[in-house]
Amino acid sequence: MSAISSIYDYSMGQPMATHSPRNPLPVAIVGAGPVGLAAAAQLAIRDEPFVLLEAGPGAGTAVDAWSHVKIFSPWRYNIDRAARQLLEGIGWTEPAPGACPTGRELIDAYLAPLAAHPAIAPHLRTGTRVVRIGREALDKMKNGERKKSPFALQVESGDGEIDRLLARAVIDASGTWDIPNPLGANGMPVPGEHTLRDRITYGIPDVLGAARADFAGQRVLVVGSGHSAFNVLLDLARLEQEAPGTEIHWAIRQRAGRPFAGQVFGGETSDALPGRGSLGKQVRQLTSSGRLTLHTDVQITRLHATGSGILVETNGKPLATALPEVDRIIAVTGFRPDLAMLRELRLDLDPAVESPTALAPLIDPNLHSCGTVPPHGAGELAHPEPDFYIAGMKSYGRAPTFLMMTGYEQVRSIVCALTGDLDGARNVELALPATGVCSSDLAGASAEGDAGCCETVAASTKIAEATGRRTDPAAPAGSCCGGATTDPGERELVQIAPGGPRELTRAGGLGTGSG
Ligand SMILES: Cc1cc2nc3c(=O)[nH]c(=O)nc-3n(C[C@H](O)[C@H](O)[C@H](O)COP(=O)(O)OP(=O)(O)OC[C@H]3O[C@@H](n4cnc5c(N)ncnc54)[C@H](O)[C@@H]3O)c2cc1C
Repeated sequence: MSAISSIYDYSMGQPMATHSPRNPLPVAIVGAGPVGLAAAAQLAIRDEPFVLLEAGPGAGTAVDAWSHVKIFSPWRYNIDRAARQLLEGIGWTEPAPGACPTGRELIDAYLAPLAAHPAIAPHLRTGTRVVRIGREALDKMKNGERKKSPFALQVESGDGEIDRLLARAVIDASGTWDIPNPLGANGMPVPGEHTLRDRITYGIPDVLGAARADFAGQRVLVVGSGHSAFNVLLDLARLEQEAPGTEIHWAIRQRAGRPFAGQVFGGETSDALPGRGSLGKQVRQLTSSGRLTLHTDVQITRLHATGSGILVETNGKPLATALPEVDRIIAVTGFRPDLAMLRELRLDLDPAVESPTALAPLIDPNLHSCGTVPPHGAGELAHPEPDFYIAGMKSYGRAPTFLMMTGYEQVRSIVCALTGDLDGARNVELALPATGVCSSDLAGASAEGDAGCCETVAASTKIAEATGRRTDPAAPAGSCCGGATTDPGERELVQIAPGGPRELTRAGGLGTGSG
């Protein structure tokens, strides 16, 4: 490892010093979820100073909010390598690799022991919410010496006081759980949403447990597609059997039609994660059974409180054509990243996806529905603000297909970059289980045409060829999911040698070394 390493300085167009043993400041990690903890483990095994800042009362606070949900990826995909290395050193028993844990089990068997590890616990500050991040003494407008100026983080503790701490680098792994999308198809809260908020639940309520009383015997509208919505619908179906009078309505934006059935329910038996495929399969069966009522082409424009419930106006049509009256709404409409706290940093984010720009074409659900996202690391995740990275769920912005193992590889690469191991940062490897869905039509069939994601990715394959990315030779040429859809048991191995496309054009970039 070199003492001072060269990495592309985005803002100034020249190599910069990123790592020096003389710099005593820690790397600040925002969020002690699975990915923030993995970043801490990666730094700990390299003996690098860090501070891990968590808003909630303990590690995995966001996971705790959906602790009743059984996740679809088995343990073998959920444990970071550096974390395993640390945990094995203290006699930890690794859970059976093939079993899928609940959120609770993920915390109890992995995240909590990792947070309590002697190499991490002293550096974890819980009850500490990061509210703003900037450069010490340099606002966003100032060019001078940004790369030499430490980061200043403003943090809020339980007492409401704002404190300040300095860091040499920042990894923002704060997830997106805190900002659910509102009900409006236009991305905005609809009129009535605020007034009726006590009858709307965002996220995945435990309808069979803590939230049972709110939903038993009620007419419930679930809004949103995706695996989280599937979880809610399946739980409600169980509740409906136990609590007479429970009615389940499901509203989605997609129109019923040509590609509809194959996409609404996900990859089903073609999904390389059987647990994920099974969710869609079960919901398809539930829909066919008539135990839930599916409403398609729903774009919610207004909520009306009536004397006996809620009427949901859709597509701006008159109330007479509104959805049937319901008592409660569960919004499972996805999440978005908190960018307000990053306002003083120079970011390069995709205007639609709100992920780092180089990452966006790999994960944009308008372009690429496979979920078989190529691996990526510090190169794709870099910003004009040197030594600042967004990792984990938040790095995907509004895209929903994030998997923990993707985040683990992200932070391994980032930590390599921050500690001067540029080869380690460049060599990003990941074997992702394919979803078994392959089309761009998922987001509502573009008017311009129905190019499937395979076609879209054929374009990125050209980028891949240029960058030296190697895709699984078993996959058909130009196919993003290819072998994975035909053989669900096979995982798609994709390896990136250099960094992201952006860096290719930049001399001295992390990615190519060619400039
Ligand atoms: C229901 C559900 C099921 C999922 N199932 C799977 C699965 O089967 N397999 C899979 O690989 N992935 C799954 N995911 C996706 C993803 O891997 C998880 O959401 C994972 O928890 C993301 O990890 P993270 O560390 O990036 O973010 P999070 O787990 O969201 O952690 C972020 C942490 O940051 C903290 N935080 C937030 N804001 C601040 C702030 N300003 N300052 C300080 N701390 C802050 C939060 O309290 C939280 O502890 C699932 C997600 C959901 C919601």
